[in-house]
Amino acid sequence: MLCNYAIANGYQLYFVNNDRKRLLAHCCKCKCTFKLWASWMSEDDNFQIKSLNLEHNFGTNFKLGSLVPYSWIGSHYTKQILNRQKMSVRKLRLEVIRKFGIHVSLSQCRRAKKYDLQLINGTLVEHYAKLWSYREDVRRSNPGSTVKIDVNNMPYGKKYFSEFYVCFDGVKKGWIEGCKRIIGLDGHFLKGIFKGELLCAIGRDENN
Ligand SMILES: [Zn+2]
Repeated sequence: MLCNYAIANGYQLYFVNNDRKRLLAHCCKCKCTFKLWASWMSEDDNFQIKSLNLEHNFGTNFKLGSLVPYSWIGSHYTKQILNRQKMSVRKLRLEVIRKFGIHVSLSQCRRAKKYDLQLINGTLVEHYAKLWSYREDVRRSNPGSTVKIDVNNMPYGKKYFSEFYVCFDGVKKGWIEGCKRIIGLDGHFLKGIFKGELLCAIGRDENN
C-alpha cells in the first residue's frame, strides 16, 4: 500500500526497517517530515500503525522506480504476462514507465516477469492436480456422467496430464431424448503456458 501511495504522489519513501515485525518508513532520506512506524500485533494477527506523520515538506519526484520491489511490478502485470508470455522485458519496462510514470530498471522488470511466470506455472500446475478430485465430485454429484482422464507416464514414475473428457448425464439424456441426431464439433487451441486443444461435441435440437 505504501508503494502505491508513494508512486501515486511522487513521494520518495524508503524503508529504514521492513521485516515481519516492524516497518519504519521515511521520506527523502529523512529530510522530509513524513514518518510511519508500524509493528506486528501477534494477538490481533495484523500490522498496526503506531505513529504517523502524513505531512510532506519536501519536493516530489515521479521518476524514482527503485522504491518498488519486483513483486509489486509483477503483481500489476500477471494477467498480461499470462496472455502474452513472449512480451519482452524491454516492452514490460516501457509499459510500467507509461502507466505509472516511474523509471524502473530492466533488471527489476526481468525479475518481475520471472516472478509472474513462477506464479502462473505454480497455480496452473496446482489446478491440473485438482482434476482427479473434480472427476470424483462430478461422478458423485452427477451419477451417470462420464469423466475420463488420461496421463502420459514419464520416467521416474511421474505422470503428466494428457487428456480430459467429460459428458454430463443431463447432456447425454437431453441429446438422446430431445434432439435431432446431429453432432456439431467445435474446438480451439489453448494459449498460455500449457498448449493444447479444447474440443466440444454439441448436440442440436429442433430449434437450435
Ligand atoms: Zn515527503
